[in-house]
Amino acid sequence: MEKVVIVGGGLVGSLHAIMMARKGFEVEVFERRPDIRNVELAAGRSINLACSNRGWAALEAADMDEEIRTISIPMYGRSIHATDGTISNQPYGLEGEAIYSVSRGDLNLRLIRKAAEFPNVQLYFNEKCLDVDLDTNDLKFQNTKNNRRRTIQANRIFATDGAFSAVRNRMMRIDRFNYSQYFLKHGYKELLLPANEDGTHKLNKNALHIWPRGGFMLIALPNLDGSFTCTMFNPFEGENSFGSLKTRSDVTRFFRKEFPDFFEIMPEVEEEYFRNPTSSLVVVRCEPWNYKDQILLLGDAAHAIVPFYGQGMNAGFEDVRIFSEMHDSFKGDCGVIFKKFAELRKPDGDAIADLALKNFVEMRDLVGDEKFLLRKKIEKKLFEAHPDKWLPQYSQVTFSHIRYSEAWKAGLEQDAVMEKVMNMDGIENKWDSDEVMRDILNQINEK
Ligand SMILES: Cc1cc2nc3c(=O)[nH]c(=O)nc-3n(C[C@H](O)[C@H](O)[C@H](O)COP(=O)(O)OP(=O)(O)OC[C@H]3O[C@@H](n4cnc5c(N)ncnc54)[C@H](O)[C@@H]3O)c2cc1C
Repeated sequence: MEKVVIVGGGLVGSLHAIMMARKGFEVEVFERRPDIRNVELAAGRSINLACSNRGWAALEAADMDEEIRTISIPMYGRSIHATDGTISNQPYGLEGEAIYSVSRGDLNLRLIRKAAEFPNVQLYFNEKCLDVDLDTNDLKFQNTKNNRRRTIQANRIFATDGAFSAVRNRMMRIDRFNYSQYFLKHGYKELLLPANEDGTHKLNKNALHIWPRGGFMLIALPNLDGSFTCTMFNPFEGENSFGSLKTRSDVTRFFRKEFPDFFEIMPEVEEEYFRNPTSSLVVVRCEPWNYKDQILLLGDAAHAIVPFYGQGMNAGFEDVRIFSEMHDSFKGDCGVIFKKFAELRKPDGDAIADLALKNFVEMRDLVGDEKFLLRKKIEKKLFEAHPDKWLPQYSQVTFSHIRYSEAWKAGLEQDAVMEKVMNMDGIENKWDSDEVMRDILNQINEK
């Protein structure tokens, strides 16, 4: 059977290895980091992700969904923490619909373990891809432990080596290969909120907690051990920036003032603050995602996005599922599939990049805004009464398999309708009246 090489054994690469192994390919995975099976996941240092329907569908295709569900925690909505300590809850979707908090390390570990069960999968760790020869499909690797170099030939290469992909780096020198990279002015820092002494969570574990403060915010996702992984998103420079928090007392003062209810349950926050790095956020777009029928970019290597829709991994997992389905329907003809896949998915990669940037504004500025909350209430009512006519954009992205590019377009149309509704006189008092519902339905029917 044909040999395929997967560069990068992160979330997308390890899932893709399973899917390709199931099709009978000889799969070789080269990963820069050490073997995750031998590295103890640092206790209490869990970094988590939200997995939603697109992620689950891909895990199901790989027969991994049941196992991953055992290590995930459902979050049914957002818990918004105002500065005065008031908490308001906003469900994400219909009753029972949830996004799931799962440890990145544990998820990756289980996918790698599963991939290793296939006799036709070879996993190589501490192997950093340096370059690829586009004429011969020779890949150059360097072992990060002994610096030994080797060259591997592959019929097909799948590049799942993340936002700063070495394979994509080489493709950037191809004529008419387009590439852009955009760093946000905001960065992020993770902080671990430990469990109570009895191992219980300090906040409601079935919600994603947000402290929106305009130009910056704090969020928290639950872990199985009772802790929460919290992430601050602040500008690098200026007011309320990482740059402005220089000393322990700066940090303490900042948290006490901006997130008082959080500070109350985590008074030692400044220790965590200085223990953990501040990282940047990048959006990468490129095109085409394939080089002939030799190389295909998947996951962050093709579309690195900001994390505000919780969709980066979900989109990468969806790449894997859709590639697998196309592989079946085109009977394995990679000459057709690589190009068709790249053309099909590119608009969706762009759309989820835009959606994620848009959601940043929503999360940090709007979830605490009265008008925005009213709009959400109206949309919820509409959705419950007329699910065939109105599926909120968040639900399209998170709880459906509608193409991201279609969800983006539908969102623009919904924005236009809701703008008119929100400008109606006295909307605050009559939002759940028949008049408002009729007006919206008329607008929809006119389209
Ligand atoms: C703060 C934050 C929160 C996030 N939250 C969510 C969320 O809630 N939900 C969600 O869906 N997504 C989320 N994401 C996005 C998600 O983390 C990524 O989309 C996902 O990890 C992409 O998977 P990947 O396998 O494509 O890339 P990566 O996870 O980056 O994996 C790439 C792999 O390739 C390896 N590699 C890199 N270079 C080389 C090389 N030269 N040679 C060999 N190997 C190499 C790396 O070591 C790594 O193992 C978040 C991201 C951030 C930063």
